[in-house]
This record gives sequence, structure tokens and C-alpha cells, in this order.
Amino acid sequence: RGEKMKKGKAYIIGAGPGDFELLTIKAKRIIENADCIIYDRLISEDILRLPKKDAELIYLGKGNTEGGLIQDEINQTLVKKCLEGKSVARVKGGDPFVFGRGGEEVEALFQNEIEFEIIPGITSSISVPAYAGIPVTHRGIARSFHIFTGHTMENGKWHNFENIAKLEGTLVFLMGVKNLDLIVSDLIKYGKDSKTPVAIIEKGATKNQRVTVGNLENILELVEKNKILPPAITIIGEVVNLRETFKWFESDKLAKRILVTRDKKQAVEMSENISKRGGIPVELPFIEIENLKIDLNNLSKYKAILFNSPNGVKAFFENIKDIRSLANIKIGAVGVKTKEALEKNKIIPDFVPEEYLVDRLAEDVVKYTEENDNILIVTSDISPCDTDKYNSLYKRNYEKVVAYNTKKLRVDREKVLETLKDIDIITFLSSSTVEAFYESLDGDFFILGDKKIASIGPMTSETIRRLGMKVDYEAEKYTADGILDKIFGA
Ligand code: SAH
Repeated sequence: RGEKMKKGKAYIIGAGPGDFELLTIKAKRIIENADCIIYDRLISEDILRLPKKDAELIYLGKGNTEGGLIQDEINQTLVKKCLEGKSVARVKGGDPFVFGRGGEEVEALFQNEIEFEIIPGITSSISVPAYAGIPVTHRGIARSFHIFTGHTMENGKWHNFENIAKLEGTLVFLMGVKNLDLIVSDLIKYGKDSKTPVAIIEKGATKNQRVTVGNLENILELVEKNKILPPAITIIGEVVNLRETFKWFESDKLAKRILVTRDKKQAVEMSENISKRGGIPVELPFIEIENLKIDLNNLSKYKAILFNSPNGVKAFFENIKDIRSLANIKIGAVGVKTKEALEKNKIIPDFVPEEYLVDRLAEDVVKYTEENDNILIVTSDISPCDTDKYNSLYKRNYEKVVAYNTKKLRVDREKVLETLKDIDIITFLSSSTVEAFYESLDGDFFILGDKKIASIGPMTSETIRRLGMKVDYEAEKYTADGILDKIFGA
């Protein structure tokens, strides 16, 4: 009918620096719902697990923010995706309008009559110093702060350092590593005290944050010595001295870095709990869970149904048609997490074995059933669930239904090595993740060095040892929280 396709909408979003949790609630909601995400290198990788499954992810990074070419490409891509009718989240590090070139994107959208929203972010210029324990203002020390780009402007026009050197407030330079020699020499040349404290913060608010402190006189030497690399914030002024007292986010005091190897979706909760306990979660999934279609039409023949994991509960309730078909059936849950998953579905299980094992589950159900009763076990493709054994031990008719598959993932070896570099503790919540880890590394474990390994329970520990690794922590309660209790000594 010649009707034009409805245009999509663009969201220019600031994601804050480094630390994933510095994302705003609004940004999170929009990213979760967007059809297309265009992002750059300054955002936390964890943000990329928020988009819906079929969202299109486009990386358009630029090492050098002055790169005009790539900015045109970003503008064009943004416009093009919106004209396709998509809801597009353009996600940038920090704030989009603080040297983020968000303005140019808005202009391109405006020219094409595309609707947009702007979601400010926490800019690195104040938050990265805060993560280094440096306040940009402080009563009696600094009454203003001034933020500059350390890059030269178009046509090579440099800042007016005669004016800048006279400022009494804190000076903050973004993108200031490359031209630091010019910045320092101009400040001194126009009268700034050469003993003025300077801090350079690399990769702020991430687990790789590094802070170098000196003064205008010696900072260049330190930069060379420490091989300082972008992205980094340079902050100049007496406030830098407060770091001695205010520093908090430092690797020695910090925070165990803990690798989460479980399925991407399940990792979310575990990572949150690691953060809550003061650790730093790093996710690298080694399995993927896929719920299956299962036929639950004949439930009435069972006297009891046993759930062997929270995933099983989830998959089961995706497939059940009428909840009343469970009316007179006894329900067993293998552990507290499975119990909670059932309770979310308004089912209070009749029993949970003392030991969180499927063998115990099969044993305990005896009390709730009679000889020759049918019992269904809802489980995964790889669960150690031996119905023949239970049938002969307990004189009942156990059947199992596989409600989900756990697919081992082969992760690129280089990627594993890169990720492991900063890890203190590796967690394994199932034997299959251990195996996938082993296979991804081709069995080569000498790189583990003094990294610790934490296991969810005896079966997983057995696999870890069988494959030639050692177990440093084994949970007493066989849950993700049980592992964290051990690690954090709760
Ligand atoms: N819009 C961003 C800045 C983009 S310019 C913001 O508001 O934060 C890119 C520069 O930001 C980098 O060169 C560096 O100076 C600074 N920067 C961004 N994230 C940083 C981080 N996590 N640690 C240190 N510097 C960072």
C-alpha cells in the first residue's frame, strides 16, 4: 500500500566505566529489550549477556577516538538499523556526551528523522578517580574540577595552557597518555608547581585497574617505567594525596577473582552472589543448557515425581499443560535450590534428602510409595541416575525423563588462557564443566599455577581429580552458594 515501514528508535546509552554494576537501571532495561546493540571496547563484557537471544550485536570499536572514519560508519550503521525498524541500543563507555561523540550520532539521527532517547552514564572522568580513592573535589582542597581531552583538536589546535595552568581546581585528562609529555611540560611552563601530584589510572573500575602516582616532575619517568597504556585517566591536583586514605578498590585488599564456568543463564545469579560477598566474578561458560520438549500427558500413572535439579523443574513446568495433573503425586527435590525452584511454581515438595544426591532422592521416595508404584525422575542427559539399580534395590518402577540437555562447550584455548590470567579461583558446578574445561585446554594444566579450584561436591571433585587437577575447596552444601560459603569462609 506504499506505506513506509515504521522507523525504529535509537537509544544513545552511557554504560559507565569498567564495573558492570555501574550501568543504570534504565540502560539495563533498554539493552535487554533492544533488537540491535552497537557497542565499543570501553564497556564491560558482562553487558553483552543482557540482550535478548536473537538481538544483533555489532562491535564498532575505535582505538583512537579521533578516528573520523569509524565514527561515520557508526552513524551510518545506527541510522540504517533504525530505518530497518529496529530498536537500537548504542552503548558507549562512560557518558555518551563526555568525549563520547554521542552528539554526532544524535545529529545523524535527527537528519534522518529518527526518534531517539539519551541515557546518561557515569563518566569515567569522575568515577575512575573515585575507584582509585581520589575525589575530584574536596572541601578545602579543590573547589572545581576541569575535564579535558588529551588529544589535539581538529587542525592541530592545542589547548590554551596558559589559562589551564592558572586553574586552581583539579585537572582531569581523558585520552591523555599519548600527549602526556606535552601536557606536563606546558603546565610547568605556564607556572604550575612541578610538585603538583599526578595520578594515572589505567583500566579503572576493572579487575585490571592500576594506579600510578607521582608529580608533574617525575610522572613521565613513571609512565615509561610502568609501561602505562590507554585507556587511562590522568588526574592532577592536591586531591591525589587523599588516595593514601581513601583507596579501597585495590588488588591486594581485593577481592578474589572467581571464574564462573556454568551455563550463561545460570551464571547471572552466581555472579551476583560473588559480588555481594566482595569477590569479582568472571564468567566463561563451559556448558550450555537446552530445555527439551517432553511429553507429560500421562502423569496420572505416577505416585511420585523426583526433581534432580532446578533446571529440571524449569523444563518440566515449561511442558506441563495443567498443573492439576500433579494433584495427588508426591514430589521430591534433590536439594534446596530445586526446592526453591518448585516453590516458585507453587509446589512445596514432600521431601528433600539430607544429602543432595539423586541416589538419596531415589531412596527417600520409598517412604512415600508402595511396591511396584511408578516413580518419575526428571533429570538431564548426563545425570548419574540409574533406574535399573533403583528398581532392584527398592522394588518400585522408576522411570526417567530427560528434560534438558547439557552441552559441553569447547572454548577457544587462547580465550581460556587470557581469561585465566587474572583468576584466583575456578569454580566447577558439574562434572561436565570440568570435562569441557579440560578439553578446551587440551588437558594442559600446568598453566593453572597456584590458582585454586572449587568444587560443588564429591562427584564433581572426583572428576576434577580423575583429570589430574586438585581440589582446594569442596562445598558442604552441594549448591553454588555452598561453594561460595567455602571460598569466603562463611
Ligand atoms: N565517554 C567516556 C569517555 C570516552 S573517551 C566517558 O564518559 O567516560 C575515552 C577515554 O576515556 C579513554 O582514553 C580514557 O581516558 C577514559 N576512560 C574510559 N573508561 C576508562 C576506564 N575504565 N579507565 C580509565 N580510563 C577510562
